[in-house]
Amino acid sequence: MVKPLKEMFPKEWLDYQRYIHGYTKEKIPIELVRQMLCKTNEIENEILLKYSTFTKADADDRLVNILQIPLKCILSNEEKKIIDDIYFSIYPTFEVSAIVKKIPRGDKVVLIHDGLFLSLSRMSQLQLYEVEWNDNDFIKANYDQIIEHLLSVSNLWNPNSKIKENKTIKTKTSKFRKYSGALTHASILFVLGHEYGHILSNHPSYNNDQNFNHRMEFEADTWGCKLLIRHIMLNGVHMDDNVVLNYLLLGPFLTFGLIAMIKNKESLTHPSPSNRMTRFKKKFIFNITKEIQSTAWKKINDAIDIDSLNNLLDIGEKMFLKHIEYGKIINKINQSKK
Ligand SMILES: [Zn+2]
Repeated sequence: MVKPLKEMFPKEWLDYQRYIHGYTKEKIPIELVRQMLCKTNEIENEILLKYSTFTKADADDRLVNILQIPLKCILSNEEKKIIDDIYFSIYPTFEVSAIVKKIPRGDKVVLIHDGLFLSLSRMSQLQLYEVEWNDNDFIKANYDQIIEHLLSVSNLWNPNSKIKENKTIKTKTSKFRKYSGALTHASILFVLGHEYGHILSNHPSYNNDQNFNHRMEFEADTWGCKLLIRHIMLNGVHMDDNVVLNYLLLGPFLTFGLIAMIKNKESLTHPSPSNRMTRFKKKFIFNITKEIQSTAWKKINDAIDIDSLNNLLDIGEKMFLKHIEYGKIINKINQSKK
């Protein structure tokens, strides 16, 4: 007998929703992991044992918690208290990248699309070839593989797609992994920071007023930007490595790009990704200057050169526009399949 929806606590409600949406209840294949590790020592065995009862949902929720650590440690005590009350979870939603939702009991939860983090990671790998290496030879020589790579991402967002094993492009060097890792990390922090923004601004549920809904989205984007900058500054993340620093600042453009690649249209609740990117770009220097002024760590002034930021923003915009091209390619392929 299932408990009435109105009585379910956030985790219970989520587990129930995931169950009826067919989200896998399978346990983590610990034996397989053990074999892959070849010989496991006592400590590893202990850790493996701990995870042996985990389902994919449990592991995913754990991952969301871990990803939030860098953000939680830059919140004020008051902000942290508000965020700690909210259950963040991976969920098979196909409409948006992430959303704050009220469950029947009245609690707020944050639902994150099942394929979001993997999508951002895969798109950041591709951006390394496009932006950093400007490797047109690679792109020409590996065109088919890049198409497979793009399809592997778009399939994650299609509820009707049967997941098949796509070939994806691989990162080539450790430096490559470092940069694409920074880009992925920043884009994920931006998504989480955006959701934090909705919660910290105490935004109500969406209503039928499109302008009102869109204003809330823009406000949440500003929070995402602010928290990402605060994370970079207060943790001094890779201040000595300008390339990594640039990739961290480009994160939001990758996020907007991915959303645009999947669907570059406005809705009742969300402005179009193009609109969000343009606004974000326009306000970026203002936001970063404001954050620099409000932080106690003035050393940052030397590390971030405002003049070169304008160049970076242009790269960000190019990165975004690339994703619109990718989206068109994917649409064409999907149309021809019909
Ligand atoms: Zn939002």
